[in-house]
Amino acid sequence: MKKIFAAFTAAMLTASLIAVFTVNTAAFRPAVALTFDDGPAPGVTERIVEALLRHGAKATFFMVGEMVEKHPETARAVAEAGFEIGNHTYDHKNLKHLTAAEIKEELSKTAAAVKEATGMTVFAARAPGGNINDRVRALFEGFDVVGWTVDTKDWRDRDAEKLTEFIRRAPLKDGDIILMHDIRPTTADAVDEILTILEERGFELVTVSELAARKERD
Ligand SMILES: [Zn+2]
Repeated sequence: MKKIFAAFTAAMLTASLIAVFTVNTAAFRPAVALTFDDGPAPGVTERIVEALLRHGAKATFFMVGEMVEKHPETARAVAEAGFEIGNHTYDHKNLKHLTAAEIKEELSKTAAAVKEATGMTVFAARAPGGNINDRVRALFEGFDVVGWTVDTKDWRDRDAEKLTEFIRRAPLKDGDIILMHDIRPTTADAVDEILTILEERGFELVTVSELAARKERD
């Protein structure tokens, strides 16, 4: 009787351990944020949007104000697909070389252009080329400054296969922000496969604001 009881207890214990393990793995799914800079670029941005929609993935597009004014319909396509739009200044200058008034104008003109084209209020902002220092950062008042943790160098390589291989091999972790550019047709060529790879690697794809909100919750 004792033996049967012990076996039964062991079985119960195993079952409950399996249950706990299953619950834990289901609860934690690492997330990364894909970001596409320098658009909107007609004919390229839309292809990226369509691939994201096919995969049920989210992303953030850091747009340049003068591009939004030139291509409002492309900016609108991004907004209507439910993706986040970030502020990437009006004409992509090195902000370290600008005055305080000029930097403020770079940001406010872009936020106004996005609002006009899409109706969306922009919260996230990213300095062109990552050129930021304490002085510049202080002038990003009212915006969440967003950098990146993984640079795919897609702007330099302009090679879909190279970009895909980079994502396949990159040592990615939960919370990573991946930099790409939606002005590069080769990046649009690679996006479908990149999304498949990231899904296979177990990552959930979220916007930068969602990623920040999750970090705050943790
Ligand atoms: Zn840029």
